[in-house]
Amino acid sequence: MELEQLKFLSPEEVRSIANEFGTPVYVYSQSEIEKRCDIALLFPNEYGFTARYAMKANPNSTILKIMRKKGIHIDASSIYEVERALVIGFKPEEIMLTSQELSPNLKSIIEKGIFYNACSLHQLEAYGKLFPGKEVSIRINPGLGSGATQKTDVGGATSSFGIWHEYMDEVKKIREKYNLKITKVHTHIGSGSDPEVWRAVSRYTLEYAEMFPECTTVNLGGGFKVGRMLDEKTTDLQKIGQPAKELFIEFYKKHGRKLRLEIEPGTHMIALCGSIISRVVDKVNTGSKGFEFIKLDTGMDSNTRPSLYGSRHPLVTVAANGDTPSNMKDYVVVGHCCESGDIFTQKEGGAPETRTMLEANIGDLIVMEGTGAYCAGMSTKNYNSYPETAEVLVQSNGKPVLIRKRQELTQIMQNEIGIEV
Ligand SMILES: *Cc1c(COP(=O)(O)O)cnc(C)c1O
Repeated sequence: MELEQLKFLSPEEVRSIANEFGTPVYVYSQSEIEKRCDIALLFPNEYGFTARYAMKANPNSTILKIMRKKGIHIDASSIYEVERALVIGFKPEEIMLTSQELSPNLKSIIEKGIFYNACSLHQLEAYGKLFPGKEVSIRINPGLGSGATQKTDVGGATSSFGIWHEYMDEVKKIREKYNLKITKVHTHIGSGSDPEVWRAVSRYTLEYAEMFPECTTVNLGGGFKVGRMLDEKTTDLQKIGQPAKELFIEFYKKHGRKLRLEIEPGTHMIALCGSIISRVVDKVNTGSKGFEFIKLDTGMDSNTRPSLYGSRHPLVTVAANGDTPSNMKDYVVVGHCCESGDIFTQKEGGAPETRTMLEANIGDLIVMEGTGAYCAGMSTKNYNSYPETAEVLVQSNGKPVLIRKRQELTQIMQNEIGIEV
């Protein structure tokens, strides 16, 4: 049986980072992030291209700065992300806001020069009222979706994201009423999408571009799969992009309009560039008919994905004493939170599942791979009052540096107002 391997760290680096910065700790690789940016920037296109990073995947400022240097733009999913990107140094025109929530501060955000992607008829109407005659993008729910799980599927009739495709007449009415220019159409159908579905959606999206003669740009969203586990595949952007590029050429031949392409990957750009180093704090078993459990010094407060989606991450044993373990064991690997759902090896729905891995003893290190995306930025942080996990970047020269400190108790409590009782 083939075991999961470390993705970018060596066992020596794992031990030395654990000793220097303590555990648990997120570790990111600058050179891996830069490689991913290069892959995104080479996406096939014919008439101009912009790659936006869906910063909700991991909003650490150092990571954003690496991407900015590479020429990547931003997909922001709230006005807070917009503000965060501006603080880091992105120019307003490099940011597009695609949000479920219509912010009361929309006016000031747009006045700064942020491009707006209207995700509902209500949002489009509100934008039109504030900015008659202005350019805008619309997010369309094309009626089909695709995601690795129901929870990451954001297209189709069960999804609230975007303007339902049957309401284009309503869109046109709002456009006329406020003289809006729909210069961009946008679809994003889900995380971990099937390449076939993605291709079909590209075709539909161009049909929306056709409906609006002023449209110059088509944004096809993100959702490109990555293979965290050995049995999962990473979407080849060259392969998936080629047929999309041909659709753009066809469109030009038919309509005489050269459409610019945008994509906005999150996962694909960062998921495999991050790991969590944790330590085994305990081992228990539930008898001869039960399971052998190993407990880590981290949990859903650093990676909620297994409990939220049943998603799997490689778990690689690194012996603390430098030995190379050779015995294989079947473990259920659990987190440190007092919550029965805090299991790293579970099926979608929550039933524990065993994982075959190299034997680990108390004090040994376990590296959880594929944790660059939707972990540090999306976790049940501070549950059980565990502090926010520190983040380390292995720089291009191989030197690890701290890019976010471990939180302190005073920081966890800092916004509480302790009244006398
Ligand atoms: C989350 C999101 C993305 C990125 O999704 P990934 O699966 O991480 O690639 C892209 N566009 C929008 C609008 C999103 O909300």
